[in-house]
Amino acid sequence: MTVTVRFAPSPTGHIHIGNSRPALYNWLFAQKEGGRFILRFDDTDLERSKQEYAQSIEQDLRWLGIEPDVIERQSARFASYDAAAQKLKDAGLLYPCYETPEELDRRRSRQRALGRPPVYDRAGLRQTDEERAAFEAEGRKPHWRFVLPNHDGDPFETRRTEVTWNDLCRGDQAVDLASLSDPVLIRADGTYLYTLPSIVDDVDMGVSHVIRGEDHVANTGVQIAIFDALGAKPPVFGHHNLLTTRDGEGLSKRKGALSIGSLREAGLEPMSVASLAVLTGTSQAVEPVPTMAALVDKFDLTSVSKSSAKFDPEELKGLNARLVHELPFEAVSARLEAHGIKAGQEFWETVRGNCETVNDASRYWQVITGPVDSRIEDEDREFVSKARDFLPSGEITQESWGEWTSALKAETGRKGRGLFMPLRRVLTGMDHGPDMKALLPLIGKQNILDRLP
Ligand code: GLU
Repeated sequence: MTVTVRFAPSPTGHIHIGNSRPALYNWLFAQKEGGRFILRFDDTDLERSKQEYAQSIEQDLRWLGIEPDVIERQSARFASYDAAAQKLKDAGLLYPCYETPEELDRRRSRQRALGRPPVYDRAGLRQTDEERAAFEAEGRKPHWRFVLPNHDGDPFETRRTEVTWNDLCRGDQAVDLASLSDPVLIRADGTYLYTLPSIVDDVDMGVSHVIRGEDHVANTGVQIAIFDALGAKPPVFGHHNLLTTRDGEGLSKRKGALSIGSLREAGLEPMSVASLAVLTGTSQAVEPVPTMAALVDKFDLTSVSKSSAKFDPEELKGLNARLVHELPFEAVSARLEAHGIKAGQEFWETVRGNCETVNDASRYWQVITGPVDSRIEDEDREFVSKARDFLPSGEITQESWGEWTSALKAETGRKGRGLFMPLRRVLTGMDHGPDMKALLPLIGKQNILDRLP
């Protein structure tokens, strides 16, 4: 069996770091198993789904390193959903219900008041053709419910019916179908809820493994029953924990700030975003993993913990910095060039340890090419004015800084910070930055002379 997975977002908004987890988990699983990855747009809601969101999701996934093998759209597949719905209707498993939302609300309140679970009583299933015709004559349109197989032949005598599966993340799971209402699969306006199209697609597209957030656990019990009713073998399921902020807040409220697009624009590396998204909420250490191939090796669905995956968006910065400090020149050369930095490996290796993002390299490129905002404190004026005379002659090399500061030390008696800092300030305009020994040859003789008083 070819492993086939899918990431199935609704293109009704941009994806954030929380939504990137099922995308990455499915992608990594497919890579590990030599399988296929389908990007499936759950766009049956024609009003809210937008092409621009679909495009932005594709772009975000590519940036993260996810290249779908196939892209599918539910909006192109209504005929298949209609056929499946008809099959269920013919089998007497999909029945019309005419209650209005208000009637259903009232009924649930009554059940709660009597201390009963608010489970739908299958009133629609009892109705005769005449009663249905009367509703239709009133102008009511039915919604359609699937009869859960939680009975022994008489749907009004339900009994405990456990649907079980061995979850890739959570181990053995069980959902009692008698505790659930028959799910509505088709709304009164004829549109499909997510459940049936998702199952039909999973069957038609040969999806072997469904990896998604744990907010879908209860759906899975229902979905397995519908797979069975359609005569299809259910896929293997895995439900991962959901990402929340440290105080337990879900991410949807902070969508904007943590959207993949905004993280990209903030100059973060895709691998630091992917590392955080994949490793948070697992028993593994959250650390920057340099490549997708390395993340594939590290990835393990059984390490996902049962509690929520708490994270602090600030962690991303530190993780990104650690990743950038190790990035080889080849990984950044095109981006440096795009920033107008016409420098080579030496430059990058000199500055990367001081960069939180690759964009920070621009700051140090400015230090090298100038102009810089040279600074001299009053108490250093005399010292700095001597510096020009002791600058080693000839070309500036890696040895020049040592020779220069030794000579100045001998001349002035200054040492440590008092010796180095005034030179750093006058040459770079900064108090901190890359190692002066490596920076000096990059700044070059002429610039040094121009910056010294
Ligand atoms: N469109 C659904 C969602 O975003 C897909 C869930 C699933 O993977 O089955 O929640």
